[in-house]
Amino acid sequence: TRIPLVAGNWKMNFDHLEATYFVQKLAWLLRDARFDYRRCEIALMPPFTSLRSVQVLVEADKLSMHYGAQSVSVTTQGAFTGDVSADMLARLGCRYVIVGHSERRKYHPEDDANIVDQVRAVLTAGMQPILCVGESFEERRQGIQLEFAVGQVHDVTRDLSDAEAARLIVAYEPVWAIGTGMVATPQTAQDAAKAIRDDLRETFGAQVAEGVRILYGGSVTSDNAAELIEEADVDGFLIGGASLDVEELSRIARLT
Ligand code: 13P
Repeated sequence: TRIPLVAGNWKMNFDHLEATYFVQKLAWLLRDARFDYRRCEIALMPPFTSLRSVQVLVEADKLSMHYGAQSVSVTTQGAFTGDVSADMLARLGCRYVIVGHSERRKYHPEDDANIVDQVRAVLTAGMQPILCVGESFEERRQGIQLEFAVGQVHDVTRDLSDAEAARLIVAYEPVWAIGTGMVATPQTAQDAAKAIRDDLRETFGAQVAEGVRILYGGSVTSDNAAELIEEADVDGFLIGGASLDVEELSRIARLT
């Protein structure tokens, strides 16, 4: 059985002091609620500049939450001004790296080839990629949303070994739902997650497909998390806006 994952994607928010305060407060709230981290995993994805502060806090207070980065360089070291390597992130204790978020695909030249290389870099450094896929409103209007999202997963994963694929996490984030307040219905999220899992099963077999966690992302709040997590193939959430409110994030974690 898959342990659900609640991952907060802070995007470009919070400096390292705000991050420190947030992590401490989240830990207090969850402790007060007797939250069971073995039943549901929590991960935070701060900007690069806060990773070290989060690491120090998590290690010093022996917190049971995990953290990761929002993107990574495809190269290992050298003359790549402004880039951060997977090894650097691994050494900061990152467990996860978001790869191919729609905002990265839009504002940076991240195409499928680059995203494949990021996934490889993350896996090679011993971390787990959270691969983001999802259709825009236009593909949904045309009725090709499932083929589109499955195709995005397939193009990136087809060259992975079974062992590599087993370490993947997929986040289905329809672009029309991100930051809009237009959350997908549970059925829409389930249809996409199931289609993605079916494709993983065809490529890698049942054992890998049943183990890969498939998250939903896009306007998740404490008002809709409980019904979304009921769906058989939805294994947690990648949360943007609501992950910036510590009370709200703790509520979502308790509902998941
Ligand atoms: P919102 O939760 O703000 O819609 O953002 C979702 C997202 O992009 C998470 O990666």
